This record gives sequence, C-alpha cells and structure tokens, in this order.
Amino acid sequence: MAYQALYRTWRPQKFSDMIGQEIVTKTLKNAIITGQITHAYLFNGPRGTGKTSAAKIFAKAINCLHPVDGEPDGTCEICQAADNGTLGDIIELDAASNNGVDEIREIREDVTYAPTQAKYKVYIIDEVHMLSTGAFNALLKTLEEPPANVIFILATTEPQKIPATIISRTQRFDFKRINAQSAYERMVYILDQRGNTYDEAALKVIANAADGGMRDALTILDQALSFGDGHVTLENALLVTGSVTQTLLGKYVEAVVNQNTKQGLARLSEVLDEGKDANRFVEDLISYARDLLLYTEAPELVTLVPDETFTQLAKTQSANIWYNMIDTLNNTQQQLRFTNRPAIYLEVLTVKLSQPVGQEQTVPSASPTVDHTAVAVQPDRQSSKQQPTQQPTPSSVSEPAQSMAIDQERSQPAPEPAPMTSQKTRVAPHVSEDQAAVFSVLSEATRGDLDRVTAIWGDMINMLPVPEQAMLNVARPIAASSNGLVVAFDFDVIRVNAMRKADLLQTMVTQIRELTQAQHERQLVFITTESWPVLRSKFVAQLPKHKQQTPAVNPDVEEKADETEDNLVTEAKTIFDAGIVEEIDD
Ligand SMILES: [Zn+2]
Repeated sequence: MAYQALYRTWRPQKFSDMIGQEIVTKTLKNAIITGQITHAYLFNGPRGTGKTSAAKIFAKAINCLHPVDGEPDGTCEICQAADNGTLGDIIELDAASNNGVDEIREIREDVTYAPTQAKYKVYIIDEVHMLSTGAFNALLKTLEEPPANVIFILATTEPQKIPATIISRTQRFDFKRINAQSAYERMVYILDQRGNTYDEAALKVIANAADGGMRDALTILDQALSFGDGHVTLENALLVTGSVTQTLLGKYVEAVVNQNTKQGLARLSEVLDEGKDANRFVEDLISYARDLLLYTEAPELVTLVPDETFTQLAKTQSANIWYNMIDTLNNTQQQLRFTNRPAIYLEVLTVKLSQPVGQEQTVPSASPTVDHTAVAVQPDRQSSKQQPTQQPTPSSVSEPAQSMAIDQERSQPAPEPAPMTSQKTRVAPHVSEDQAAVFSVLSEATRGDLDRVTAIWGDMINMLPVPEQAMLNVARPIAASSNGLVVAFDFDVIRVNAMRKADLLQTMVTQIRELTQAQHERQLVFITTESWPVLRSKFVAQLPKHKQQTPAVNPDVEEKADETEDNLVTEAKTIFDAGIVEEIDD
C-alpha cells in the first residue's frame, strides 16, 4: 500500500479530534443538536487550521443516521460512504484549480436535484476567494434562492477577496492559528499511537516552525520521520525546518536586550555559521519577539513553547522593548530584499538592537538636511524610551550641531580621556557633522586624498573590534583633503552611535594617518548617505561663479571648464567618490 501522508491518515474524523478550534466545533455541534442548520457557511482562517476537515465532519454529521451529541457516529452507511469518498451528496470543489464559471453553473443545475442517498447535499468549495467574478455571480444567484436540503460550505484564507454580497449570505466561522502547545500535544498523540519515539525538543521545534498550521506540522513531522529510524531527533527536526533553535534565538535576544553587542554578534555568527538563511533568522526573531510581547498580555496566543530564557525575558523586559525590536526587524526585512550581502545587515541589526531603546534617536541628523521631517525622527520612540539618555532639549532639534555640542558638554562630564588636540574642547574632538565642516573639507578636497583613504579603508576597518567593524561596514569615505575626511553612513542610527565612540574615533584618525602616511590627522566629518546629494549641490552652489567652473580646488584636473553644467559634475566626479556622484545625477 502506498505511503499515506500523516496529515491524511490522521485527518480528524470527528469534531473531538480537532485541535485548537474549540469555539468553532462547539458551535457547529450545537447547530446539529438543535437542528439549526443554515444554507451557507463561511470557514475563514489561515492554511492548515482545519477548515476542510471541519467542513467534512460537518457534512458527515448532518447526514449521519445516528449522530451522537452533534458528532457523526462514524459507523453508519452514510458515514462509511463519506469516509470512503463514495457519497455522491458531498461534493468538493477546489476553486484554486477550478476557477470556473462552468463548475458553478453546473452546481446551479445540480442543486435542483434532491440528494440521492443523504438528507443534505453539501458543497464544499475550498479557496473560494479564487473564483472569478462570473463564478461569484453565479454562486450568488444560488445563494439568493437556496434550494431546500442544499448546504454550501465556503472555505477561504482571504475573506477580503470575497464579495460582500456573498459574505452577507453566509454564517461565518473564524478558524484560529493553532498554538504550538496544541500542535505539540497532537504530534505526541499521533507518535504514541504509531509507536514512534521522539526527542521532545524536536517536536517543539516542529510545532514552532509550523507557525499555527497543523497540516504543516504533520508534513514536517513526516519528513523528520523519514530521515530517522522511527525516532524523531532534534537534529532532523532542525534540518527539516531550517530553523534557528529556540535556545539560540533566546540567547541572541538576551544578549541584545542586555546591550551586549559583542555577545549578540557572537550569537549571530553562530547562526550564520550554521548556514541559516538571513531572512529566516529575521522571521524567527520577529515571531520570537511577537510571542514575548503577547506572553504578558495574552499568553494563550503565544505560538512557541516557552523555555526558561523566554519566560525570564518576558518577565524582566517591558513591552516597549519588543515593540521596538519588531519595528527594527521589519525594517531589516525590507532592506534584506535589496541586498546580496545579508550578513552585513544582520550585523548592523545586531548593533541597533543592542542600543538602549530610544537612544538611537537622541541626536538629530546632520545639519545639511533641509527637510525638517528628517529631524523630527520617530517621535514615538522618543516618548517611549526607557533608559535615561542624553536627550537634546527640544530647542536643540532646530539647531542640531551647535546646541547638541552644548547639551552634551552639560550632561556628560568628561567623555573619555581622549588625548587633547589643539582644537577647542568638544565632546568628540575628532568628529563633526555640520555643514560648515563638510564644506571645509570639500573646499580643499582632492581626488588623490580620497583615493589614498579609500585604498586603506578596508585595512583600517579590520583593525577595529568586531562591533565597530560592523558599524563601519555601512559607511564609506566620500571626500577627503589633507586635513579632513567626509564619511557617509547608510544609517543615521549607526552614524550617531559612531560619533559617540571616542575610542573608535581616536583609532580611526590615528590609523588613517599612519596607513596613508599622512603628515597629520584628518578631521572626520560624519554625514548620512542620504544627506550627501543635498550637501554636494549646496556646496557647489555657494562657490563663486568662476570657481564653479574652474576646478581649481583639484590640482589633478587638467581640462579647462566651459560654461556648461556638465563641468559641475566633472568637477564633482574628480573630487568626490564617483559612484556616489553618479547616483546623485540619476
Ligand atoms: Zn453516521
């Protein structure tokens, strides 16, 4: 006999076999007991939650010759025929494969004939939202004048795609995602019945990976069983699901909420070393954070089986942490769609998640931004933050660079025993972010300086500790003079964080000087990649007219400029990073 998939063999035969849908099954049984049957039902819910099973059981129960408390007895000739699929009065149609007007027209004619064996003729239409408009219209006509003894059960995962005129003629049942605990228990039951053995952890992994669908859980279990000798091992379960273990997820989350960047990155590399997919990891993290969020408010909605790390995290951290984490993870998920270097984004993610909540937004973005909305970043985060951090006063938001420096001088004692330079005392002596500083570098910038810095940039990064490497992996030099260097960061959060790291800045200026064999250290200017186009055009625009056309600032340039717009670009290309200039000119 051909092998029967678990989910088929173990398809529930009675309402009492179904798991996780108590309200639905109770209501349906009551309808049968009291004889209150209606003409059309809509079974709505995620895939694999038992909609089709419930429809079949219901069809059997209303036709059963000796129903017991609303359940089919499973032994009468009607039940037997239904179980064998030979009962002509239960008609199943999959709208996903028969989108058809024809099929529905056929049904329209067919419904006029009385059931042959059973009391009721039952049409089960799966994925009903896939029907064409024409088919919906035909179906609607039937529902408007329902023939006696005919029942429609429409099942769908996407009720919003079904015309309201149809929905209003049905009695609706919402099927819930099956929580991991129930899925786990069902698998234990099935394996016990079959005489298989298992690692408990393996079933937990499968239950979590199935994400609320019992059919998926059993399909995964099937695969895991096929690897082993009738024993379900954790190793096989992980292999089949491609999941990051809950333990590892927990350790990672624990590290980042404790703001231990180093450990977070170490956990991340464990995940990546196992060859896990970046998207899958982020998805796993999202459901982990979601479960943590729900655990306090609505524990019954939690999909995973909590372990000690999980309950500890849920107890000690506030909901805010998880809201923020989910936000950040969602953003990363978007970014991952457009990159072929996912590891870098995961590193950045790890650094971000290790920030105290809200802190990443404490400093407004660099001054060149003309757009004020860019300054008023995510006010909800500011109000929701937990840890006391040096927040700029509201007034400082309008005048970023200046007042930020003042604020920080006030609130931070001595930043770090950073070696004093001859410059005026600032929080970070090696770095600025304001427009004046950018212009000052640009006015002396040369392609040669930029090339020299770019050439050693990678080596310089490699000399840094791992967390700081991750920060600079999303930054690049875009303009340089012998005295200054403009660095553009892809993420403002990272830029702001880097500006606070006195050690990092010190190492950067020292190493850049040594590696480029320069006379003196270059003043760093950190801006966002986003603000660069605005800055660049502002800089060019403020140059005296003749300078705009004469690339005097760059001794490498030989060609003389004409009065054409192209020369601005030519000049820009010679002083700035060409790649970035091209992006701007798009
Ligand atoms: Zn029966």
